[in-house]
Amino acid sequence: MNTDPTEGVRSRGMAPGGTPRTSCPLCEGTSLKPTLRLRDRQLLTCSECGVRVTDTYADGDAVADYYTEIEAHHGKLGTSLADRDGALRAIARDQADRMESLCGPRRFGTFLEIGCSRGHLLEEMQNRGWRVQGIEVSRRSAAEAAGRIDGSVHCGTPEDAPFAPGSMQRIAMFDVLAHLPEPRRTLAAVERLLAPGGELLLSTVNEDWRLVPAFLAAFKLAPARTAGMRDEMYEGQHYCYFRASNVGQLLESVGLTLHAVRPIEPLSTRFFVHQYGWKRRLALLGMVQADRLLRSSRKMIVLAKKPAPKF
Ligand SMILES: [Zn+2]
Repeated sequence: MNTDPTEGVRSRGMAPGGTPRTSCPLCEGTSLKPTLRLRDRQLLTCSECGVRVTDTYADGDAVADYYTEIEAHHGKLGTSLADRDGALRAIARDQADRMESLCGPRRFGTFLEIGCSRGHLLEEMQNRGWRVQGIEVSRRSAAEAAGRIDGSVHCGTPEDAPFAPGSMQRIAMFDVLAHLPEPRRTLAAVERLLAPGGELLLSTVNEDWRLVPAFLAAFKLAPARTAGMRDEMYEGQHYCYFRASNVGQLLESVGLTLHAVRPIEPLSTRFFVHQYGWKRRLALLGMVQADRLLRSSRKMIVLAKKPAPKF
């Protein structure tokens, strides 16, 4: 019997804290207003730009230790090995297809995935003709990913990766941005690794989603009854929540150019919905249908490019 994903998300605990967040990771504004009480910290909103952050975070070894212990999708993957591997392969194919639909059907070049987890997307991209390399902070996942592909996997972060500057034609960061302690520092390192004209694809939660104000109001009004939902929406592993309307500002602050922002369905409703009880299942599927009609989603995929020099 699988665990309900809500319980699974709660069981992995919160990413390490300890360092107080004193300024906004996007605009550097220092007016951060308390917005919501989470399990062991506060969610704050920047009065200047609307980015949301947790009031404490951690960096370096503490983060690496946490992700080495807690595997990706912890509590959401099924219990059998075949189920788990099947889900990870299905997610990887979906991510590769999404990149093709945004960037065109290119099947050659150098591809780097940041937060490559156990290497399923790298393997899929290698099978599609790309020369692949990975970066992963979890020591356990990095070792598994390295065994899955011909290229190398750096166990660490983009900031300390040994890859040559300007060597990557495409970089992907699926569901990584919200987990970063210092997103601008990491994206500046990503920009250095990209070749001129190279593409960055990233997916993350979208704080501009039309239902965010309604959920926030419900979480404040009935904290005990909505705690499970709150912990899934503002899950403990995230340090920052950007908006579709300000993610471009973040990318442009490190010298990248925003090309597209599109809504995508969350993994929960695409790959893990069968594990919820029937009431949540109906609610989630109803929400997906409404989002499709309104062309909106809790999650977004973003395409940015590094400008090529003009002659
Ligand atoms: Zn701000």
